[in-house]
Amino acid sequence: MRMYDLIYKKREGEELTPEEIDWIISGYTAGDIPDYQVSAWAMAVFFKGMEARETASLTEAVVNSGDQIDLSRISGVKVDKHSTGGVGDTTTLVLAPLVAAAGVPVPKMSGKGLGHTGGTIDKLESIPGFNCELETEDFFKQIEEIGAAIVGQTGNLTPADKKLYALRDVTATVDSIPLIASSIMGKKLAGGADAIVLDVKTGSGAFMQKQEDARKLAELMVKIGSELGRKTMALLTDMSQPLGEAVGNALEVKEAIKTLKGNGPEDLTELSIKLGAAMLVAGQYESDLAKAEKRLRKLITNGQAISKFKDIVRAQGGNPEIVDNLDLLPQAKNIYELKADKSGYIENVTAREVGLVAMALGAGRAKKDDPIDPAVGIEVTAHRGEKIEAGDTLARVYYNSDKKPVEEIHRLKEAYTISPDKPEELEFIIDLIE
Ligand code: URA
Ligand code: CA
Repeated sequence: MRMYDLIYKKREGEELTPEEIDWIISGYTAGDIPDYQVSAWAMAVFFKGMEARETASLTEAVVNSGDQIDLSRISGVKVDKHSTGGVGDTTTLVLAPLVAAAGVPVPKMSGKGLGHTGGTIDKLESIPGFNCELETEDFFKQIEEIGAAIVGQTGNLTPADKKLYALRDVTATVDSIPLIASSIMGKKLAGGADAIVLDVKTGSGAFMQKQEDARKLAELMVKIGSELGRKTMALLTDMSQPLGEAVGNALEVKEAIKTLKGNGPEDLTELSIKLGAAMLVAGQYESDLAKAEKRLRKLITNGQAISKFKDIVRAQGGNPEIVDNLDLLPQAKNIYELKADKSGYIENVTAREVGLVAMALGAGRAKKDDPIDPAVGIEVTAHRGEKIEAGDTLARVYYNSDKKPVEEIHRLKEAYTISPDKPEELEFIIDLIE
């Protein structure tokens, strides 16, 4: 085979065979095919697209490019959840203990945050003592004993995706639906999931800003999952404003604790319940969504969900007392209250901007190895559709610098659009795709 011919074939809009796709991905991972040819191919894919079968082949090639995690030692159906990324997306912190309390084993591998989106590992590491680097044996033991463990990614998983993603990032080929679908599904499958629940975001804070694109991405991932023998369900959800109130690591841990105790923000609570219910159904722990939702709500009201969270924190070396005393979490030295300078309705709170401001305050990383500050971040207290008066609080900015972060505060203010008319209501949980 010659790479030239395969680039040409894709450029002409033809379908590549599984053997051809496998040849490209293994050749690229091994360093036998140069970046410039793979860039040209990725751009041809961007313009010409891929058939579902081709995307499934690409996903398999990504899975086969490195190690695969064997979770067969854990009994029961392993259901993984993945979010396509958002701002203040605290759901994993809520879901892991919640579904574990329902009896679903949770061998969770999560990432660190990059750019305007946060990472679950950074959030958990804001808990004093919490260790996300467990030895394999301890990881399995913890799941056997308490039903859940959350660790950072280890091992040589999907090296093809790491290389291809880095290349796409600098060649304007990230936002291709088949390339995103194979990248995400490849990672989930290599991670050993039997069933997968996807939270596909749309709106300003998401990869796929347009709803029709996000829907296509969700449908494609569900199709790939099924073709590769994994029950897959996707929720299509809005990420045009941040999820919940908290954006920032320790702030989000606090928010997750409140949610698990039954007094968290409504959107975060509802999304966690809906995703959790889909996980119970996808893993055949429950026969229908309504029953699953009821069961999860009960685990919150009867205290079992928060108790499971405490178990996880304790097992991974963290201080479980944070659950009853939120002041034991890292606290920022200063808080600034951003006030509205006019009355009206909140028309929009641009999620992406809020995420970037949180990053600039020190809650996230611009580059992979940047340090982060667990205590800083933003609490978005006024949301789309709310009526406010001049002088009402829009957000609280938590910062540690001695000087007031005037630039970030200004930018945060700009993220709000206040208008005299009540905005049209936007659906938050838009659809379930299976
Ligand atoms: N997230 C991923 O993991 N891969 C992509 O290609 C895009 C978003
Ligand atoms: Ca949040």
